[in-house]
Amino acid sequence: MTGWSYEDWRPGGERASFGDVTLDSTLHCGNGHDFAQVRARESRRVTGWKACPTYRFRARTGLAPYAWRFLLAIDSPGDGREIVLEVADFNHEGRTPWHESATTYSLDDGETWLPFDTGALEIVDWTPGAHAHGHEAIDAAYGDASHVPYGVRYRLKLDAPRVLFASPTPFTLDYRDRLLARFAEERPDVVALATVARSAHSDATGYPVTMARLTAPGSWADRDRVLIVAGEHPAESAGLYACEGFMREALARQDWLERCAFFFVPVLNVDGVFFGRTYFNVSPGITDGPGVNLSATWHERPAREQQDLWRFLQELRPRLLVSLHNGRHRNRMDQFCDPSPETAAINDALRAQLGFELVDAGPPRAPARLPREAIDQGLTKLGFLTETLLLERLPGSPSFRDSYVEVGRQLARGYIGGLDALNEVL
Ligand SMILES: [Zn+2]
Repeated sequence: MTGWSYEDWRPGGERASFGDVTLDSTLHCGNGHDFAQVRARESRRVTGWKACPTYRFRARTGLAPYAWRFLLAIDSPGDGREIVLEVADFNHEGRTPWHESATTYSLDDGETWLPFDTGALEIVDWTPGAHAHGHEAIDAAYGDASHVPYGVRYRLKLDAPRVLFASPTPFTLDYRDRLLARFAEERPDVVALATVARSAHSDATGYPVTMARLTAPGSWADRDRVLIVAGEHPAESAGLYACEGFMREALARQDWLERCAFFFVPVLNVDGVFFGRTYFNVSPGITDGPGVNLSATWHERPAREQQDLWRFLQELRPRLLVSLHNGRHRNRMDQFCDPSPETAAINDALRAQLGFELVDAGPPRAPARLPREAIDQGLTKLGFLTETLLLERLPGSPSFRDSYVEVGRQLARGYIGGLDALNEVL
């Protein structure tokens, strides 16, 4: 059993073997550390679970104040044995098995992500506090009223030599790059890729903030400019995949590409995604502090990725700006925008397309969200922050990832349908 400390997290993941079982987060964008085997009798807490090897790890990265994501591999002989794996230090509101329903696993190295049965998990007390001698002050400050610490135990059957285990479905930077490269290869007349921003660690990791411009050939100066930004919060992969769905729908609609110039930023918080953060980015010194909540500081823009994107936004002055997120506790989609006949028309168009309920959640909140600041600075009139759903799947979707992408296509039809409706009125 390792001692719990908050300084020993290092980027790049960890790998630890216990007999013939290896827990490994040294994957691209992996997260999970302080792996330990704990007494097997502790795994009997779930009714009907028989004792079996039990392992524990932490997901909190350094001094990050929030954690509810991990991505790691479990290597074993794949002989069908059962283990219990516990993540010790999540925090969020809710803390029911439903709140863990985005948990997922892959038996084909991440090609396919399958839903994990929430009947095979239980919520438990968080454990770092019990072992983190000398870290009481840090423990006491962990989370807040809507991010209450807890742990989760998962019962896993190891019937493949390598099981990737994650919560939620990862949207990695390699995935982003392959996706955008494929779009550009298939539609070279329509797709242009550029680096719109760099982060504190872009040069070291090789992952800057990439932007895709999608529009028909010819001058786009007179077309409606649409900017979609996802991944301010790196763990919110439903929002990241919704951006992919939006792009797929736009690429399939030649009429839109003639009328609009789309600018997509699929992952703003590249360092957070790379280093396994949940909400914040990563300090220049990596382990120096909690980093910056990119979504809550647009009025000050302390991070380079914000400053770079803001400069682009000042040039672009989009007709429509959408910041894509996903709440991890919602079963309805919260929509943040300033009330006006125009935003009401767009929300009506969205409701006609969406498979989930869209709820008016009021203006984009302070401290300054991206749409709030862009509206207040006169850079757009139509600014929205849309909370897609992480924990709900559209009926008929075989995986959460399929559902997240399909919701993005629905959002595209709603937003662009709404713009079309406004243009007809004018
Ligand atoms: Zn968010």
